[in-house]
Amino acid sequence: MVHRYFLFLGLKLSLKWNLILIELTIGLDNIAIIGSGYVGLVTGACFAELGNKVICTDNDSKKIASLKKGILPIYEPGLKELIANNVKNKRLSFITSIKDAVLSSEVIFIAVGTTALENGEADLTGIENVARNIAINMKGYRLIVEKSTVPVETGERVKHTIRTHLKGNKKFDIASNPEFLREGTAINDFMHPDRIVIGVESKKAEDLLVNLYNPLNATIVVTNIKSAELIKHASNAFLATKISFINAVSRICDKVGADVQLNAGLGYGGSCFPKDLDAFLAITGHLGYDFQLLKAVKTINEEQKNFIIKKIKDTLWVVKDKTIGILGLAFKPDTDDVRNAPALDLIYALQQEGAKIKVYDPQAMPKAKSVLKNVTFCADSYAVCRGSDCLFIATEWNEFKELDFLKIKKLLKRPLIIDGRNIYEAKSLEKLGFRYISIGRKSI
Ligand code: NAD
Repeated sequence: MVHRYFLFLGLKLSLKWNLILIELTIGLDNIAIIGSGYVGLVTGACFAELGNKVICTDNDSKKIASLKKGILPIYEPGLKELIANNVKNKRLSFITSIKDAVLSSEVIFIAVGTTALENGEADLTGIENVARNIAINMKGYRLIVEKSTVPVETGERVKHTIRTHLKGNKKFDIASNPEFLREGTAINDFMHPDRIVIGVESKKAEDLLVNLYNPLNATIVVTNIKSAELIKHASNAFLATKISFINAVSRICDKVGADVQLNAGLGYGGSCFPKDLDAFLAITGHLGYDFQLLKAVKTINEEQKNFIIKKIKDTLWVVKDKTIGILGLAFKPDTDDVRNAPALDLIYALQQEGAKIKVYDPQAMPKAKSVLKNVTFCADSYAVCRGSDCLFIATEWNEFKELDFLKIKKLLKRPLIIDGRNIYEAKSLEKLGFRYISIGRKSI
């Protein structure tokens, strides 16, 4: 994008190549990413991989210090290598000064967290803070892009905030470019997206973003800012609806002994669906629409967790003092993210009943250690099984699909597996002498 953009400028203004080079050395071609978490780091690394010069920044100086040393604050397959390669090739850098990032970048992506407030509304403190910071520090035209998931009309507020704090008459554009990547497959999702959504108000903003994304050869949907913001909330709400739908169907299957063939499970979790659904409900409520369908989606999700806890209790009868081995803590496989992970809710509920908990997760244990108390963290799946009254599958990591079940049978106090993710074939486990209980599928 960098080269193409200046080439375009150069031709248009009939400037010579050396002028283009001067522009490049000034460095106004950089992309800044503010917020270096799951989304910010993947976005920054992938844009760098596409040939852009990218600066990632964050208000957590420890995070930036670690990143400078090549230590990643998150686990995402392939990200460490992608970052290392682009740092080595001087396309990607990390700095603590948001001011410097704003000074040297024409396109600024805001990728800070937008967690939920107690009342369900999105907490936009970070967005407001960054907008103010950009306004104070920008020295010329800037394109400010909302990458974070935000409620519809946030763009208007960002624009107002920037106008309020801006000194002089500098030009800027706001755009919305919601992110659809999924943790665990984030790099592939970024590089091969189903579609890229761009909400803009000017041709200049559209051109800048389309140029950035062109190398991906993907479908680019260009719309206005409000529509782009709404598309993201609507998309996540729709995905959550599908999960609750199939989980509701699994409950019927459970009652009649039919087999659910789709992915029923513990319910949705993670850092996005629960908070985005709450934020969408909050904004639709403010706008005077009672989104009953989404309220039901949320209720079914909560009920699903309670249903599984009841399943465990019904199977073990007395839970107090029993040891329950749990495989998986992350909200999904291939990530270390435990934010709103169903496994954690399950553990809290079982601890309330007096159960002893042993756990193992291939990547999420360091993060889980900071939130879980009185839990035995084990070195592997087999250590979890040793002496446990039952084994519970909470996250469908591939390595859990390839366990040695004869060994597990010997290690467990009794051969009982409760599968919250339906990852095993009932028949094979039953043949080995296990009692196997899954969700919405026949079990003995
Ligand atoms: P994250 O918590 O991993 O990262 C956010 C980063 O922003 C943190 O490093 C934090 O220190 C930093 N930050 C917060 N306030 C800041 C400020 N004022 N100035 C500078 N940095 C600040 O969050 P995430 O998972 O990367 O999500 C970021 C946004 O993207 C959220 O709105 C989320 O809903 C959205 N999103 C996330 C995913 C996902 O799978 N994680 C997917 C699509 C969209």
